Amino acid sequence: MTTYPLTDEDREIQDRTRRFVDDDLIPWEQHAEEHGGAIPAEIHEAHRRQVRELGLAAMNLPTELGGGGFTMLQQVLVQEQIGRATNALGWVLHTPAAWAPAVMTPAQIDRWLTPSIRGERHECYAITEAGAGSDVDAIEATARRDGGAYVLNGEKMHVTSYNTADHIFFQAKLVGGENEGAHAMFVVDKDTSGVRLVAEPRYMHTYADTHALVAFEDVRVPADQLIGAEGDGMAFTYEWFRYERLMIAARCCGAADRLIEEATSFATQRVQFGRPIIENQAIGFMLADSLTELWAARLMTYGLAANVDRGVDVKIAHGQCSMTKLYASEMAGRVADRAVQIFGGRGYMRENVAERFYREVRVDRIWEGTSEIQRAIIADQLVKRGTQALVG
Ligand SMILES: Cc1cc2nc3c(=O)[nH]c(=O)nc-3n(C[C@H](O)[C@H](O)[C@H](O)COP(=O)(O)OP(=O)(O)OC[C@H]3O[C@@H](n4cnc5c(N)ncnc54)[C@H](O)[C@@H]3O)c2cc1C
Repeated sequence: MTTYPLTDEDREIQDRTRRFVDDDLIPWEQHAEEHGGAIPAEIHEAHRRQVRELGLAAMNLPTELGGGGFTMLQQVLVQEQIGRATNALGWVLHTPAAWAPAVMTPAQIDRWLTPSIRGERHECYAITEAGAGSDVDAIEATARRDGGAYVLNGEKMHVTSYNTADHIFFQAKLVGGENEGAHAMFVVDKDTSGVRLVAEPRYMHTYADTHALVAFEDVRVPADQLIGAEGDGMAFTYEWFRYERLMIAARCCGAADRLIEEATSFATQRVQFGRPIIENQAIGFMLADSLTELWAARLMTYGLAANVDRGVDVKIAHGQCSMTKLYASEMAGRVADRAVQIFGGRGYMRENVAERFYREVRVDRIWEGTSEIQRAIIADQLVKRGTQALVG
């Protein structure tokens, strides 16, 4: 690819991931679609092994802890390729909590983080509640100190990968004590008494990972399962948001890239009225708009990743992550919509990549902050920091 200056090492990582996605993941998409997102267990295991052998496992964590130690730009290059496969087959590439090494105690790192890096454990995030989505501060889950323990209560929804996780990052508000009302984050083993699966509703996409409704009923955890200090909870959430918003943008670029390739290939072969449909400007222009928007999104995504690697101020990064996620996710939605149109009736069939992506990229405008919330953040940053600081 020639859109951005990359080192030889960056390109090698990009090529390595692309080959894995094209040769090993994409061939299983249709099977996954027909089996509720699942692929045969031995194939899934083989994919897990491949991710490790390719050096892509826990690429976001430092090498001292057994991670890949990738730059942010390299992570974006990998996630972009991962985004080219539907049905979340790319989630086999697990990226544990990158914010954790800075705030977890050595004992917490040994118990939860390093086994996650080795691929032996898996986390999920329980933040959202029925009454608290965009407005995270409205959470009603509680944490009450009781001697050497905390007692956790609350009901969380949309807990992604609950079915594959074995521990949960649980966010609550403190009740009692000098930090009453402040947020706190806990790590809770899924098999702790009082953690109860309420439901696993079905969603628009066909993924093997579920998004669960989970009740926490008088869940008692030792005080050393608090992450960081009382009141720190929101800080981790913001850091996670920034990271995931950038990675969502990268995966959206990958989805758009695949869609444009597949739709172009179809449009050059499909003949109606005696000529390939791409010879109609109506079709060619849809692809032209898609390619142009993909390039813009990719430049934003790579540029932001490089800024993060250069140590850009975290507040500027916050605004730029919102702009990049907003643009890339809306771009992917437009590209998927056009791809369905170009494929015509075939684009409405489950076996068609455009149909699957049309459903799958929809959530990218919702999770990790909706498009409206990204716009609110961007407007706020504009007022506080000005055009020059954000895009100059
Ligand atoms: C598939 C999926 C997986 C998820 N995984 C997880 C997970 O693992 N862990 C977790 O904790 N959460 C998860 N979420 C939750 C996700 O982060 C929330 O859905 C998202 O933040 C939006 O919250 P909400 O759904 O409650 O919508 P609401 O906040 O109720 O918003 C509804 C609508 O109102 C708009 N709106 C709200 N406030 C404003 C405002 N101030 N200005 C303008 N418009 C506004 C929104 O943009 C949206 O259009 C997941 C969600 C989905 C769909």
